[in-house]
Amino acid sequence: MNQKKTILLDVDYTLYPRGTGPFKEVSKRIEKYVVSMLSLGLEEARELRKSYISRYGSTLGGLMHDHGVRPHEFLRYVHDVPVESLIKPDEKLRSVLEIIPYDMVAFSNASRDYVDRVLKQLGVADLISGMFTIESMDFIPKPMKHAYRKVISTLDAKPGDLMVVDDMVENVLTALKMGMSGVLVGTSGKPRGALYINDIYDIPRVVT
Ligand SMILES: [Mg+2]
Repeated sequence: MNQKKTILLDVDYTLYPRGTGPFKEVSKRIEKYVVSMLSLGLEEARELRKSYISRYGSTLGGLMHDHGVRPHEFLRYVHDVPVESLIKPDEKLRSVLEIIPYDMVAFSNASRDYVDRVLKQLGVADLISGMFTIESMDFIPKPMKHAYRKVISTLDAKPGDLMVVDDMVENVLTALKMGMSGVLVGTSGKPRGALYINDIYDIPRVVT
C-alpha cells in the first residue's frame, strides 16, 4: 500500500458492534416515521422499507421518490437520538485507529451532524480527516455506485487508492466493482476479492 491510500470507514455497526448503540434507535425512528407518514402498520412499514432499500438503496430514497419527502426533514427526525447516552467513548478503538498510517474518512449513509456526534462520542473524531455523508452523496446512498463515484471525485483519488471498510456485504461489493479494495467487518458472506475482519479492532491486520 502506498501513502496515498485513504480508508473509507463506515460508522454504524462498523465502528461499534451490530445491534448496539445509536443506530438501533435511528432504525426505530425510521420505522416510526414511515408508520406515521404513510399511516401504515408496523409490519407493512417494515415490508415497505425492505422494498425501498432494495430498489433505491435506502428508506429515504424510496420516500423521496414515491412521496416527495424532503431529505433534510427526514434526516433531522430520524437522527434525533441521544447519541451521547447510547454509546461510550472507546479507548481501544482510538488506540487502534491511531496506528493506521493513512487518511481515514467517514463514509456513511447517515447525516453529517449525526456522524459527527457519533465520532465525537466514540472519542475518535480528531483521527478522521473528513466526513462523506448522505448529504455529500446527493441523498443517493451506498451501495449505489453514485456515492462511490462522488467520493472518488471529491477526494480526487484513484479507486485503487481507496479502501472501503463496512459491515454491509453490498457496500463492500460495490467498492470492489468500482476498483476499490474492500474489507467486510463482522458479517458473513464476504465477497470474493474482499478482506474480512471480525471487528474493527482487527483493522491494523489488513491495512498496515
Ligand atoms: Mg454500517
